[in-house]
Amino acid sequence: MQRTALAQDTETETERDAISQDLRYLTGSEAAGRLSGTDGARRASVYLAQALEDLGLTPAGNDGYFRWLDVAAARLTGPARLKATIASDVTGSAKTRTYQHRKDFAEMSSLSSGGTVKAPLVVVTEEAQEESGLRPEDLKGKIALIPKRPAGFDFGATVTTAADLGVVALLVEMGEPAWFHKTVYGSPNNRIPVLRVTASLATELVAAAATAAAAGRSAGAADGGDGAANAAVRAAAPSPVEVEIDLPLSFQWLPCRNVLGLLPAGRLAGGHLPGSLMPSTHATSALTRTVAITAHFDHVGDDPAGPRFPGAMDNASGVATVLAVLRALAAPARRTRLPFNLLVGFLTGEESGLWGAKDLAAHPPRPLSAAINLDGIGFEPALRAIRLGRSAPGHWLADLAAETFQGLGIEVRWVTGTDDSAAFMNAGLSTLGLGQMATEPWPAAMHTPEDTAEVLHLSTIKEGADAILSLLDRLAARPARAF
Ligand SMILES: [Zn+2]
Repeated sequence: MQRTALAQDTETETERDAISQDLRYLTGSEAAGRLSGTDGARRASVYLAQALEDLGLTPAGNDGYFRWLDVAAARLTGPARLKATIASDVTGSAKTRTYQHRKDFAEMSSLSSGGTVKAPLVVVTEEAQEESGLRPEDLKGKIALIPKRPAGFDFGATVTTAADLGVVALLVEMGEPAWFHKTVYGSPNNRIPVLRVTASLATELVAAAATAAAAGRSAGAADGGDGAANAAVRAAAPSPVEVEIDLPLSFQWLPCRNVLGLLPAGRLAGGHLPGSLMPSTHATSALTRTVAITAHFDHVGDDPAGPRFPGAMDNASGVATVLAVLRALAAPARRTRLPFNLLVGFLTGEESGLWGAKDLAAHPPRPLSAAINLDGIGFEPALRAIRLGRSAPGHWLADLAAETFQGLGIEVRWVTGTDDSAAFMNAGLSTLGLGQMATEPWPAAMHTPEDTAEVLHLSTIKEGADAILSLLDRLAARPARAF
């Protein structure tokens, strides 16, 4: 039967509504930024398991659609605070400044411990060490500020040195971003709170420290003292800036779950299983190839009593794309059944170390022949360019994808991903790490409250789903043993 243009329009409309609904739920307040180990992530996993069930996929976890695994991450358990009390002169009517988390400062989760500390500030610059004779022992028990990173600054080594010298917390200037990107990578070995601060905050603290220190020196000079006396006055004077940090950051392993469903070979999604096309038992046997299609559903989480982190592009968009692929596979008009099993994985713990992907690679419910991961799509009005997750041609799956996408007018970029595809590749799987590439300047919204569903283009996500469908069809056309 001839399908009318009107019917196609309605279909497109319906599909856009479905994509929009998935994005709305995943980026909404119920999902609360989907940080692994939180109630928000748990609710998102329930939503996704329900979606797989509605689409007729077979549960492929070890607890229905869920597969449990422990995920390590640095998670905030309360609001982060930074305060500075600045003596306006040496005789001291002090004023307290309270700074805004994410705007003025943010934890450097990969290097920071949690903790509550209150201590005098010491400003560490190359000049301070050379000219005013700042000695390592002056740092003990202090909160150190590096107001300007020297060339070749090694953040990790600096934190280690600071902690070894008895510094109780470290503030490091990191430019003037609109938002500090939130990260949740952590380590149990981190020893002191480490904060990124804006250049303007650093400048303010340096000026306050310098002004009060100069006042301290002139007070010493007025005593008629010599250089040694001045030094004694300076050492005896209380530090002009006292800093208070409350960083309830906790590095924990928490039980989390991947959401896994299987579309057996020869079957359409949605439970359509016409008798004539009933797969033989052989078709679903262990010998049948299984292709994983994955997207991480976790994100960095809303801040407790702070801004929301919807994680729309990262990676509600990838999840929504995979669901759109499944809905297309369920469409009654669809004729092509896949001759391989399709294992759908919505993965947890990507943001703190690719934990969900590592778990899937190590314990797949079926041996995997290939993995197609999707991370980040929909931020331009069209899908003009896509990364393949590989740095060069020469791998059969990437070459097939490149040919397929180029045939659809999509430019391919040979760029590796730092996302879940890296975990699959490290496990030796034939892997594609797909994600949209920017072709025009775009705001650095990743891991900020500005990564919202409102700015995503539903039609681009639909284009991504169509491109992946074409790729699956190309895979289906390959001889049974060709991958
Ligand atoms: Zn991310």
